[in-house]
Amino acid sequence: MSSAGLQQRVGAVAESTLSEHLYSVLVSTMIPTQPHVVRGIPLRQLLRHFPSYWWRGKLGHLHRHSVQVAEFDEFWSHAWSAPACPKIANVLLLHHGLPASVLASAAAIVVCLSTRFGHLPPLGPTGAGWCTISACVVNYLTLLLWQSRQTVFFDLASINQSDEELKSHGIASLGAMLKRSRRMVVFWHSIYTSRLWCMYELATFVGSRPPGTRASITVCPPLLGVLRLGFQFGFVLLMFLFEPVFLVGGRVPVFVVAFCCLLGAGHAARSYWRDVDTMEQQASQFTFAQSTCACCPVGEGCDKPYCDRRILFSCIASLFGSLASFEEQVRTRERKALSHQLRNRSITYSHIVQATLPGLWLACDFMSRWPAEEALVELAETCTDLLVIYPFAVKIALRLTHALRARCGRACLDFMVSVAVTAVGVFLVGLPYLVHAFVVQEVISSPLNAQLTTLGLWSIPAILLWQCLPDLQPLAVAPSKTDSGGPPDSTGGSADREDQKDLAVNKESL
Ligand SMILES: [Zn+2]
Repeated sequence: MSSAGLQQRVGAVAESTLSEHLYSVLVSTMIPTQPHVVRGIPLRQLLRHFPSYWWRGKLGHLHRHSVQVAEFDEFWSHAWSAPACPKIANVLLLHHGLPASVLASAAAIVVCLSTRFGHLPPLGPTGAGWCTISACVVNYLTLLLWQSRQTVFFDLASINQSDEELKSHGIASLGAMLKRSRRMVVFWHSIYTSRLWCMYELATFVGSRPPGTRASITVCPPLLGVLRLGFQFGFVLLMFLFEPVFLVGGRVPVFVVAFCCLLGAGHAARSYWRDVDTMEQQASQFTFAQSTCACCPVGEGCDKPYCDRRILFSCIASLFGSLASFEEQVRTRERKALSHQLRNRSITYSHIVQATLPGLWLACDFMSRWPAEEALVELAETCTDLLVIYPFAVKIALRLTHALRARCGRACLDFMVSVAVTAVGVFLVGLPYLVHAFVVQEVISSPLNAQLTTLGLWSIPAILLWQCLPDLQPLAVAPSKTDSGGPPDSTGGSADREDQKDLAVNKESL
């Protein structure tokens, strides 16, 4: 039956409550019950109203700001019970991070040129000045206030939470909304693979792509946004405090503080890789029966008239052929897709450059005061640091934390492993400086040519690392052969197979 025909038929039953079977048929056909229930929320509206509604505990009011859409730029898949703040940090960096970095750096360059040409007096003889200050202001304002044009599916805003009938139509149109989404963003959390709705959304999105096309999925680990913001903020503080601390206590206090911060990052990275391992282990043993659902606890009967678990069972039977087929897909294809994203795409070259950009802003302050020749050398050195050396060192350090992620028996031994990994990372940052000072500068007398030579020299291993290093592979785990059992019913046992026959009849009648 055509989309219009199905919608007309649904309209006829809209006055009465939708049955569970009708729900499942509508979800699985990926056709909306009514065009107006396909609703997205402009990202700028979501970010504007989310804080106040969240504070007042009225997130359902976000639906007022949703609009009818033909398709979504993004479908957001997340576990409700996961903390909200890390998700917000990830959303801000995912959509506003790049414009914030570009505009902040442009502001630093404009202020640098204004100071050089005498339009702005320099702020002090040395250290961070107008360039760093203006770049910071522009960076954080853009991060908060950038007006994205994207429209997203966000369950609390896209599905009416107060009107039961509209809510039922929204849930029944979920398949249609998944099919009409260009990209899926997974706000991953360690509980994600145990949530039935989450795994259903992921599997359905992948299955709804046209043949031959690859599903576009971005996975955001919970602490990624927080760590990126924290790292950049720490870098900004270092830019402002380096000169005063250096003048008072010399290099040692600066080095100790920086090393402690990097040690925390190294320890967190090892913990992150272990979380990915746990996710893979959980996903490899995924069963419908053991997956969690907000509607009713695992293993207990559900007396609600519309049980999510029963509805999803019917949807899965219709979309994937059988429960076993769905579970197998989660244990293999979805597990590997999540693992690939979390191991190889969660921290990118662009993320590292953006996090270390305060180094460019400080260099703009130096260049605004120094003679032209020294300013050019400073520019070349900053480009070497930000574009080559830091990404080179971080890539190797990340691989090292992955290789040494296993927790050691003793806490002190585990701590020493993190210290050793961090020390290697610091050495990798220092190595190019040593080579430059004791080799390149001895051979090439011109400071600018020497710096450009160092830039070219270290670009080769950096490019090879980021372009040619093989991806990390998923764990070689044996998929569980656990019997998933039959469909859930209102008494908690296996329902009669007549359910599936009825489903087929309902589908035919539509
Ligand atoms: Zn239930």
